Amino acid sequence: MQQIARSVAIAFNTLPRPHRVMLGSLTVITLAVAVWRPFVYHPDNGDTPGVIKRIALEKNELRSLLPEASEPLDQSAPEPEDDLPPDEIDQDVSAEAGTHDYVVSSGDTLSSILNQYDIDMADVNALVKADKDLRALQVGQQLSWTLIGDGDLKRLTWQLNRRETRTYDRSANGFKASSEIQKGEWQNQVVRGQLNGSFVTSAQAAGLGRNEISAVIKSLQWQLDFRKLRKGDRFAVLMSREILDGKRQQSQLVGVRLQTGGKSYYAFRAEDGKFYDRSGAGLARGFMRFPTVKQYRVSSNFNLRRLNPVTGRIAPHRGVDFAMPIGTPVLAVGDGEVVVAKNGGAAGNYVAVRHGRQYMTRYMHLKKLLVKPGQKVKRGDRLALSGNTGRSTGPHLHFEIWINNQAVNPLTAKLPRMEGLSGQDRREFLAQVRDVMPQLSFND
Ligand SMILES: [Zn+2]
Repeated sequence: MQQIARSVAIAFNTLPRPHRVMLGSLTVITLAVAVWRPFVYHPDNGDTPGVIKRIALEKNELRSLLPEASEPLDQSAPEPEDDLPPDEIDQDVSAEAGTHDYVVSSGDTLSSILNQYDIDMADVNALVKADKDLRALQVGQQLSWTLIGDGDLKRLTWQLNRRETRTYDRSANGFKASSEIQKGEWQNQVVRGQLNGSFVTSAQAAGLGRNEISAVIKSLQWQLDFRKLRKGDRFAVLMSREILDGKRQQSQLVGVRLQTGGKSYYAFRAEDGKFYDRSGAGLARGFMRFPTVKQYRVSSNFNLRRLNPVTGRIAPHRGVDFAMPIGTPVLAVGDGEVVVAKNGGAAGNYVAVRHGRQYMTRYMHLKKLLVKPGQKVKRGDRLALSGNTGRSTGPHLHFEIWINNQAVNPLTAKLPRMEGLSGQDRREFLAQVRDVMPQLSFND
C-alpha cells in the first residue's frame, strides 16, 4: 500500500510544477482510489508484479486526466479540412505513397533513424534479429522503407553500396531478409536538355528516369524553385548508371548544373551521400528546433499510436503540443513559402509552410495570422500569434513537421543543417568537383 502511495507520489513529483497545483485535488482522489481498491477487492493480494503494472497504468491515467493545453484526447490530431495546394512536381515525381528515403549520416543508428518516424522499437529489434549487420550502418548508405497505414513497418531496403541491396519484408514472425548483388557495369552518362514545358516533362524528354529526376530536384531544392523555371533554361546532369544486359538497373546522381536567367546553379554528391555546392558548402539552411523564441513545455507528444484511454481507439497525434500563453509569436522554423494561411476548422486558425521540396511545417490553433498564402518567409519570421482556436482544450500551439509527405516527431526529427564539408572530406570533394564540372558544360 505504501508502495502504491509512493509511486503515485513519484509520478506526481515528476510532473511539471504548474500541474502539481492544478492536480492537487485530483491526485488525492486518485490516490484514495488506488489505496482503497486493492484493500477492498483483494485483501490478501500478494501479487507484486501485478501491482507494479497497475501503478504504471495509473501514472498514464493521471496524465490523461490533466486539464492539458492540447487537443481533446478522444480525437485524432486536428486534420485541416482542405488539402495542401497540389503541386505538379509532387504528383509527377514523389515516390510511392508511404515510401521514405534516408541517407545515413554520422551518429545515426537504425533505431535513431526509425525512431523519429515513430516506428516501433519492437520492429527495430526484429530487423536487427533478422540481420545483425544492420547494427553497423555506414555514412552515405541509403535506407528506404514502406509503412502499413500510419506506423507499422512493411518493408525496409538497405543499399549497402552500389552492388549490394538487402531487403527485409515483414513476415508472420519478424522480418524476412533477402539480398541482391548487382552484376551490371557502372557508367557515367551526361544528360543535357532544355526547358520546354515543366522541368519534369523536359527532363523526361532528355532521357532522365523518374527517380533520376526526383534526385535532381532534391539536390537543388534549396537553391531553386522548379516551378519558376522558364522555357529555354538549360540543364546538364551527370548520372552514374548501372547497365545490365543493355538495360539501366539503377543510377546515382553525381552532379548537376541548372542554368536559369543567365545564372548557373550546381549541386554535387559527396561521399556522405549528401549534396553540396561547388565550394563544399551545405545547401540546406538550418532549421530551428522550436517555432518560438523561448522553449515551452510539451503538453502532448508526437504519437502516431496515441490510445484513447476511454474508447481504446487509436487517435494519432501527428505533431507536438506546446502549452503557451495566447499571443505568443509563432516563428517559421526555416526559410520557405507559406502555402496555407486560413481561419477556422478543427485546426483553428492555421498556417502551413513549405521548405524546399521535402519539408513542410504546420502551425495550428493560432489566434491571429500574420502571413498570407504565397508569401516567402525566412527562418525566424513571425507567422502568427498563438491561440486557442479550433478543437483545443487550452492555449497551446500544435506544431508538425512533415518530411516527404509523412509526419515525423518534431522533437527528434533530423533537420536540415547548414554545415558544409571541411578538412580532408572537403579536399576530396573539391577534387571531384574539378573533375565533374567540365562534363556539365552546355557545348556551345
Ligand atoms: Zn496537438
